[in-house]
Amino acid sequence: MRFEDLQLIQPLLRAVRQQGYTEPTPIQTQAIPHVLTGRDLIGLAQTGTGKTAAFALPILQRLIDADTRHGGKTRCFVQVLVLAPTRELASQISESFSAYGQHTQLRQTTIFGGVSQRPQVSELKRGVNIVVATPGRLLDLMNQGLIRLDRLEVLVLDEADRMLDMGFMPDIKRIIAGLPVRRQTLLFSATMPPDIEQLARTILVDPVQVAVAPESTTVEAIEQRVFFVEKGDKRKLLQHLLDDYNMH
Ligand code: AMP
Repeated sequence: MRFEDLQLIQPLLRAVRQQGYTEPTPIQTQAIPHVLTGRDLIGLAQTGTGKTAAFALPILQRLIDADTRHGGKTRCFVQVLVLAPTRELASQISESFSAYGQHTQLRQTTIFGGVSQRPQVSELKRGVNIVVATPGRLLDLMNQGLIRLDRLEVLVLDEADRMLDMGFMPDIKRIIAGLPVRRQTLLFSATMPPDIEQLARTILVDPVQVAVAPESTTVEAIEQRVFFVEKGDKRKLLQHLLDDYNMH
């Protein structure tokens, strides 16, 4: 499979080549065609699988296509919101959007807490198409009326399970309550704990699910048990267990 086979347009193919990517990763091969059609998607994938490009490339393409339909004039309002658990991840995602979108007119910015909000607010005022944000600061700006999301087209929740672990779920629910109901929603998570499954059920519409690593890597047929022993007794315990003829 080549990037060309994924029906990506030239400005994106050029950017991908400049990144040195020769072929799409499995999550990209699986996710890109669905995201291009506008479908909601659940992606079970960890960082390192190339999941950022799996959503960023088709999202950029959809924005460019929409612009072309509107006479080629880049429209400047927040069309895409990506929520990520940490400032570091948000910055990485932003860098990826910049790299993949370098041959387009689309504008983007990053929003996170722990720093002054002023530069972030002025960036928003200049007009951006894509916002990558951590939930706390974004909600803060929403509550102050400093960001308009009423024309949002795509929402991405990245590393949803980590956002849950970090206690962001109430913030995320409040943010989503302030977004247009008609939108494309993409949810990426390395694992699917019940709370994330429940969230997915409420915010995604008829999602397609793609996975690149099995949710659980343990083999069902193997029974596992934990024994707490002193370090010095480990070898004796192992010997004892192996002597048991019931142990296969
Ligand atoms: P991610 O899982 O999105 O954090 O990506 C992990 C790393 O893989 C990043 O450094 C990307 O630049 C890189 N990457 C993404 N897609 C590809 C690809 N198709 N070929 C080679 N490297 C890639």
